[in-house]
Amino acid sequence: MRIFVVNCGSSSLKYQLINMETQEVIAKGLAERIGISGSMLKHEPNNGDSIKIEQDMPSHKEALKIVIDALIHKDYGVIKSMDEIGAVGHRVVHAGEKFAYSVVINDEVMDALKECIDLAPLHNPPNILGIEACKELMPGVPMVGVFDTAFHQSMSPYAYIYALPYEYYIKYGVRRYGFHGTSHKYVAERAADILEKDIKELKIVTCHLGNGASITAVKDGKSIDTSMGFTPLEGLAMGTRCGDIDPAICGFLVEKEELNINEVGNILNKKSGVLGISGISSDFRDIEKAATEGNERASLALEVFAHKVKKYIGAYAAVMGGIDAIVFTAGLGENSSSMRENICKGLDFLGLKIDKEKNNTRGKEAIISTDDSTAKILLIPTNEELMIAKDTEELIK
Ligand code: AMP
Repeated sequence: MRIFVVNCGSSSLKYQLINMETQEVIAKGLAERIGISGSMLKHEPNNGDSIKIEQDMPSHKEALKIVIDALIHKDYGVIKSMDEIGAVGHRVVHAGEKFAYSVVINDEVMDALKECIDLAPLHNPPNILGIEACKELMPGVPMVGVFDTAFHQSMSPYAYIYALPYEYYIKYGVRRYGFHGTSHKYVAERAADILEKDIKELKIVTCHLGNGASITAVKDGKSIDTSMGFTPLEGLAMGTRCGDIDPAICGFLVEKEELNINEVGNILNKKSGVLGISGISSDFRDIEKAATEGNERASLALEVFAHKVKKYIGAYAAVMGGIDAIVFTAGLGENSSSMRENICKGLDFLGLKIDKEKNNTRGKEAIISTDDSTAKILLIPTNEELMIAKDTEELIK
């Protein structure tokens, strides 16, 4: 069966077409600048070609039409007709407390997703537009929603309730939801496979370290705590997001800098993190380069980042009552051996010993702990699209 995986952002549509028999990506692509001038589709069939199509895409529906044309094109298409697609898997950011698992999308599910718009005003509306466009252009093809929040629905109330007046949870759903769930689930399951252990017997800390970064305690295959919260702003320091700070800083900045609360929110989301500390870039590659050249604020940004990840690993070892493995994934986690080494430095007391030579790896699955490390350290490239496709296939079967 061929599954079409769709991930819609406010002005983008990312897709993969996956052959489930071989788990091979038959084609992938990205439509950008939807709804603004200069719309473009980059379509990559799996023969190594990269086709650029510059065409107006006033809406997600128009963008999807162009994607479909590319998929069935006589020269660079990969299928004869859309009838070859068995189902569509949609990445949806927020399902609130409604769905702990992926679901086949029907009218009830659409209503539930619309109810979650308040919780993810930037993400859920384009996700919904993507589903609506697919429903219109691919009538009769089953659609499945796979949610970033779903994996974390297994957290206990003591892990997700904030120490705020309880009425805000009841009235508005103010609680920890957690994000990157599809990625955390994928790498935790891969780790169990690689270690040839039953996931139900493992205590794993999964570190998704990319531009957005989060860390999860996975015990017995379930998320029991995670660093992102009500929004993806909480937790680790990130490219431009501040992560955990004293909430009193917000009121302080409103007063001192004469800002309104939205302006402060913008600073915390877009001007903080390693960009804010280094003053250089939100991209870890630029910061690592500047640090090697002696830039002290760049070094400090990297130290702050590693320190926070280390703190969470310790905290999650405590809440799980031990640790069998940690997994590094996403852009930074998969590629930066120096960051992995700095995070693991001093964690021998948890049985975590990184092997310098094995750690000199990037972008491929590897066990990078020493042979005598009682807890294992793994590098596992994330594959959210495959996870979405697998969930989709399972549900429509
Ligand atoms: P992601 O959000 O998972 O796509 O990760 C993107 C981030 O990964 C970028 O902002 C980079 O900072 C980081 N990254 C990617 N490749 C490298 C690399 N070779 N070394 C260090 N950081 C990297």
